Amino acid sequence: MPSIAENYDNGSRVLTEPDSKADLVVIGSGPGGYTAAFRAADLGIQTLLVENFPRLGGVCLNVGCIPSKALLHAAKVIDEGREASAFGIDFGDPKIDLDKLRGWKNRLLEQLTGGLQGLARKRKVTVMQGQGEFISNRLLRVTGESGSKIVAFDKAIIAVGSSPVRLPGCSDDPRIITSTGALELTDIPPGLLVIGGGIIGLEMAAVYHALGSRITVVELLDSLVAGADPDLVKPLQQRLSKRYENIFTGTRVGSITSRAEGIQVSLVGGQAPAEAIFDKVLVAVGRRPNGKQIGAEHAGVAVTDQGYIPVDRQQRTNVPHIFAIGDVVGAPMLAHKASHEGKVAAEAAAGQKSGFDSKVIPSVAYTDPELAWVGMTEQEATSKGIAYGKGVFPWAASGRSLSLGRSEGITKLLFDEETGRLMGAGIVGPNAGDLIAEAALAIEMGCDAEDLALTIHPHPTLSETLAFAAEAYTGAITDLYLPKKRK
Ligand code: NAD
Repeated sequence: MPSIAENYDNGSRVLTEPDSKADLVVIGSGPGGYTAAFRAADLGIQTLLVENFPRLGGVCLNVGCIPSKALLHAAKVIDEGREASAFGIDFGDPKIDLDKLRGWKNRLLEQLTGGLQGLARKRKVTVMQGQGEFISNRLLRVTGESGSKIVAFDKAIIAVGSSPVRLPGCSDDPRIITSTGALELTDIPPGLLVIGGGIIGLEMAAVYHALGSRITVVELLDSLVAGADPDLVKPLQQRLSKRYENIFTGTRVGSITSRAEGIQVSLVGGQAPAEAIFDKVLVAVGRRPNGKQIGAEHAGVAVTDQGYIPVDRQQRTNVPHIFAIGDVVGAPMLAHKASHEGKVAAEAAAGQKSGFDSKVIPSVAYTDPELAWVGMTEQEATSKGIAYGKGVFPWAASGRSLSLGRSEGITKLLFDEETGRLMGAGIVGPNAGDLIAEAALAIEMGCDAEDLALTIHPHPTLSETLAFAAEAYTGAITDLYLPKKRK
């Protein structure tokens, strides 16, 4: 183990012994980091997990996926209660106790992060609180509440995630928030501007709309959730247009000025007024990787200008004993991608021949209706000139969907015309996020349209819409009348 004096390149402080040693240090305890640490420990590696925040779980558990899903569940209960009046059940207006709602959400987070602490303890993964920064390719300085410690390591996994992008010229006004501030649920602003019609913007808009805010969404591009096919975005946008005060696509935010009466915003392009004033502004214009915040240069780890850390299929950086996973290695910035990469990195660190070779990574917007897609999209196939066949099933013909009071959903499957195999799938409708998993498995398994169509799906369920879309492609469908059979 090299001494710090040989490694410490700053020169201002010379130490001879590290405070502790680890066979593997994992920096960051989000879904990527904790998965990597736990898998490594299960493979017999002595592992240290370094986390800046007092609680494990990273953005996903503390200020991301989980709290947003808890609040989206509350929003769904409110919305469904309101809609029930259409079929004769009137609950009246909901009474919202914001403190109680926040407390419920926070207790859920404590339960989950506490569970992670327990899992770490059982596996003998040591947890160290503090900000990790490389001081050489074998030494990490961890600066936390109890001071600074030097850790010597044999191998490292960087799992430091990403941070919200800030708009230039935005002041520190507490009324201008990111998703983290939105999830704190400090108040219900009467008028909320959401800048960015991507997944975070639309999920938070759904929560605040249900709680009573008037919502305006401003999106730079011509479409909301630009990664998904426009025919699938359309039912979502139609529903939101009826509920929100305004949705301005093709519109840029020019300036943001704090005024006593609210946040004044200038809007450029689209149908938007030149200026408008809001009680609060949520900035949800993407996230940027945290690769430049960990002294990677001291370890010789390459970082791109944007802050990404390039890796190979084993998640190895240019420094062979240092791995990187999750948001910091590139898009899509999704927890389920990070956790898979975490397992690969841990196994590679243990000397196994694992590699990341998943064919597809599903995406889900937990909006209402949910929007989910996996594999090839139609716009991607068209832009790349890839020939495809399509099977579409409109949920207006699904008894289960109608029994939920919803008819706008669509299930769309794209098939390789030569092999008949499923290449991509997109679903919009309630529970699309759960339904898309079947398509992901079908693509991984190389299923063709008949595999999906001939698999008996339970009736009446929304899962049938996948089989029906496959039948629409093969021509065997009886639940719809399609004038021309495909085959
Ligand atoms: P995003 O990239 O999905 O959406 C940001 C949107 O903001 C884009 O549509 C972009 O065109 C728009 N935009 C950018 N600059 C703008 C401007 N100046 N004015 C108006 N619009 C502007 O980013 P996000 O929603 O912030 O999410 C960040 C990351 O986190 C994404 O990778 C997302 O997939 C991930 N995430 C995933 C989930 C989930 O899986 N459900 C939930 C939250 C976040």
